[in-house]
Amino acid sequence: MSEKQEQVGTVRLILGDQLNSAHSWFENVDESVLYVMMEVGQETDYVKHHIQKILGIFAGMRAFAMALERDGHRVNYMQLDDGSNTQSIPENLGKIIAEAKPKTFEYQSPDEFRLREQIRSWASGLELEVNEVSSEHFMAEPDEFAALFKGKKTYLMETFYRSMRKKYDVLMEGEEPEGGKWNYDHSNRKKLPKDHAPNAPKLFKTDVSKIKDMIDDAGVAYIGNVDAKNYLWPIDREQSLALLDHFLEECLPLFGTFQDAMTDQYWSLYHSRLSFSINTKMLSPKEVIEAVERAWSNSDASLEINQVEGFIRQILGWREYMRCIYWLKMPDYAEMNVLDHQRKLPTFFWDGNTKMNCVSHAVKQSLDYAYAHHIQRLMVTGNFGLLAGIHPDEMDAWYLGIYIDAFEWVEMPNTRGMSQYADGGIVGTKPYVSSANYMKKMGNYCDGCSYDHNDKAGGEKACPFNVLYWDFYDRHADKLEKNPRIGMAYRTWNKMGGDKKAKILERATSYLENINEL
Ligand code: FAD
Ligand code: SF4
Repeated sequence: MSEKQEQVGTVRLILGDQLNSAHSWFENVDESVLYVMMEVGQETDYVKHHIQKILGIFAGMRAFAMALERDGHRVNYMQLDDGSNTQSIPENLGKIIAEAKPKTFEYQSPDEFRLREQIRSWASGLELEVNEVSSEHFMAEPDEFAALFKGKKTYLMETFYRSMRKKYDVLMEGEEPEGGKWNYDHSNRKKLPKDHAPNAPKLFKTDVSKIKDMIDDAGVAYIGNVDAKNYLWPIDREQSLALLDHFLEECLPLFGTFQDAMTDQYWSLYHSRLSFSINTKMLSPKEVIEAVERAWSNSDASLEINQVEGFIRQILGWREYMRCIYWLKMPDYAEMNVLDHQRKLPTFFWDGNTKMNCVSHAVKQSLDYAYAHHIQRLMVTGNFGLLAGIHPDEMDAWYLGIYIDAFEWVEMPNTRGMSQYADGGIVGTKPYVSSANYMKKMGNYCDGCSYDHNDKAGGEKACPFNVLYWDFYDRHADKLEKNPRIGMAYRTWNKMGGDKKAKILERATSYLENINEL
């Protein structure tokens, strides 16, 4: 190390989900700036993660550090197995700062409340200049969001989404939406036809087996399966851009049409699988939206607006919306459980061993790929958890651990809010519950199931979703019956004969009492 290199003026922390090469920090090379990145037990252990998630983050961090060094930046990268690693972010930082004696410590705002609190509180005790800067990634700010809904009782996603379309001039013709409509969701609810094979997903084959060996040697507890010699998720910007190109070419033309479809034959259909690259900031949401808009304008109308709008809404609308809700409502949000659900997560969430074909497939797929698409998360595992009354803490921990893209700021409002209604309707205006009808309508799961999707009367083989659906509404009538969006369900339930009701509730009780046997 040269004399000049030893003088560190600023230490800058880069977290594992801050792999944003376009950040203004990196515009110039400054030898007095030391970038610090670390793999720590604190982050591998706060929840039991999928092995593919830990590998993806570590491999992504290492690739990012190498790219910074190639560009001439100074980087201190601490591996999990480094002898001096205390496994705690503040403690490692404390040691680095004591040694380097910088004048300034800087960090990008962490996206998770837990980390933001930890680093802010630690940094407040430092006797040097501290700067918390923006991660320069998101498109909406929580205070802007709060101003939009000031004085309103609810936070309608559609209102927010339209404001974002206008703000960024996305799919707009002047003040009006392209094509005359803001939302094309009604065209996006098709089941996958029997003889339709979606284009194959783009999978990478990076060898991350050395990182896996290190994780195993360190005794990190994890879930899920992996082929570490052929790691399939993108681990750097180049691969992330290649996945984006693949999406534009192979998936976008039918993205909207089959967005809600479910099948036990294909695991990602026409979904982009870009969430990991975007959430770790290897891609920015803005550049993804711009690429999709460009593809649409260059397509000479062969690319339909419903495919494009359906996709853009997820990123410009839902993703930003969820983050704003999170920051507006934390930390209380993490405690919300308005339906007072207390049940433990059934064992089959960890191995997929259940006779319910839909749940079995969604869980096994998640264990194999650290991925399930939105409708599997919402209408299969989430729906089951809500109907069965699983504690939202258990649901949160499961979703936070199992998915490659799971970071609390986006996982929690989706799970506790949209999926479990534990926030009492902040995110969704009614609980997302359904009987087997929805599953049958949108996929092929019921065809190969041991349960009978047609049995709506509580018979021996009655689909658990059919009986738990009514049990859920019956249990929560005091909280839900007055909700105008659910009136229809209660009218049907109230009209049902007493014997039929009793049989349904009896079957539901027996299923819940033996939940691990389902
Ligand atoms: P696509 O279907 O291709 O959608 C495109 C992009 O839109 C995604 O990459 C994502 O960035 C964004 N997006 C779509 N829906 C949402 C949404 N509801 N909220 C935020 N962004 C959205 N998403 C996460 O990124 N992390 C999570 O931890 C997470 N947990 C979820 C838990 C539950 C219970 C549910 C119902 C949804 C969750 N989602 C989460 C949202 C969504 O399911 C995933 O973003 C999506 O499945 C990722 O796959 P994809 O990239 O192929 O998405
Ligand atoms: Fe799922 Fe019920 Fe259909 Fe079986 S019958 S796949 S449990 S919805």
